[in-house]
Amino acid sequence: MKILVINAGSSSLKYQLIDMETEEVLAKGLCERIGIDGHLKHSPLVGGKPIFNEDLPLPTHSEAIAAVIDKLTSAEYGVVSSMSEIDAVGHRVVHGGEKFASSVKIDDAVMAALEECTPFAPLHNPANITGINACRAVMGDVPMVAVFDTAFHQTMPGKAYMYAVPYEYYQNDGIRRYGFHGTSHRYVSSRCAELMGKPIEELKLISCHMGNGSSICAIDHGKCVDTSMGFTPLVGLPMGTRCGDLDAGVIQFLMNKYGYSIDEMLNILNKKSGVLGVSGVSSDFRDLDAAASQGNDRARLALDMFHYWVAKVAGSYVAAMNGVDAIIYTAGVGENSKETRAAISSYFGYLGVAIDPEANSKRGEDIMISTPDSKVKVFVIPTNEELVIARDTRDIVS
Ligand code: ADP
Repeated sequence: MKILVINAGSSSLKYQLIDMETEEVLAKGLCERIGIDGHLKHSPLVGGKPIFNEDLPLPTHSEAIAAVIDKLTSAEYGVVSSMSEIDAVGHRVVHGGEKFASSVKIDDAVMAALEECTPFAPLHNPANITGINACRAVMGDVPMVAVFDTAFHQTMPGKAYMYAVPYEYYQNDGIRRYGFHGTSHRYVSSRCAELMGKPIEELKLISCHMGNGSSICAIDHGKCVDTSMGFTPLVGLPMGTRCGDLDAGVIQFLMNKYGYSIDEMLNILNKKSGVLGVSGVSSDFRDLDAAASQGNDRARLALDMFHYWVAKVAGSYVAAMNGVDAIIYTAGVGENSKETRAAISSYFGYLGVAIDPEANSKRGEDIMISTPDSKVKVFVIPTNEELVIARDTRDIVS
């Protein structure tokens, strides 16, 4: 069975074609500047075929999907002989609200329910829906599945997901913590259990997804019990450009003082804050590491804040679960920055965590970076959201 995994953004569309017999990625690619001019980078990963990397007109997502199918099936760049070899499509959808606690086969009723979730993710869900509609138009009745970033977090208890505002905002408007990166937290936590050789139902895990966007998740006996992102992905940890937790009074103060509209204010908090805002250097942790090592104090402060917040939130999840068996680092920063992992782990002395510097300096593999006698184990596990989407799609369509 071959499954096409699609992650559609407002002007971009990422894809992978995965062979489920071997879980091998046959091809992957990215359409960019959809609706502007258009560019497709398509990389076949089997058969020694060349990479296609050219501008081509992509006025809408439908042309983008058609271009992807064309490349996947072409003699020169293709990895399958015709579209009929693609058995199903799995779509990443950001927000499933309280309607979707697991992945679901897409039909007209699901599409209507997705539209109802749109107010919760006004930037992301419409793009995901556009991607699904384009795929349905181009690929006809190939079965499709929606996999939600929020679904894994639907097991949180009320005490973790409620905000302490008048209850009717929850009841009438769905105002609550939803959490994001659920597919990633789900993948790395189940992989961690495999690596530990124990059923996930016996483990207390803390997963730290640290990329451009970052979130932490407490996974107690296989179920998410708390996570740091909230109603939107803005809160929790300071991120590349997002502010993380912030006193709402600051918003009122700055809007009054500088006359910002709410959109301008949120743009600052989403795009100009986080480690970029504090450092004034970059949102990229590689740039921050370089600047800090050259004596840039604000880059150092931004990194220190990030490490401190990860440690602080993770510590609160140790309290929430009354213990922890393993801590997982994943995503761009978690997978690549040994300095970040070491700095965060240095806060976990009270848990009996000891890091093996040699293991911590390895890259690109699932690895335990704590010493064999560390009381709490620490793992680096490269995340693989596409594989989770493909597996869910296979399980639901077969
Ligand atoms: P996204 O949240 O967009 O999916 P990723 O998980 O790919 O992002 O993470 C991207 C981030 O990973 C980059 O912005 C950069 O800060 C960080 N990163 C990548 N490689 C390294 C590295 N070698 N050292 C430190 N940080 C890195």
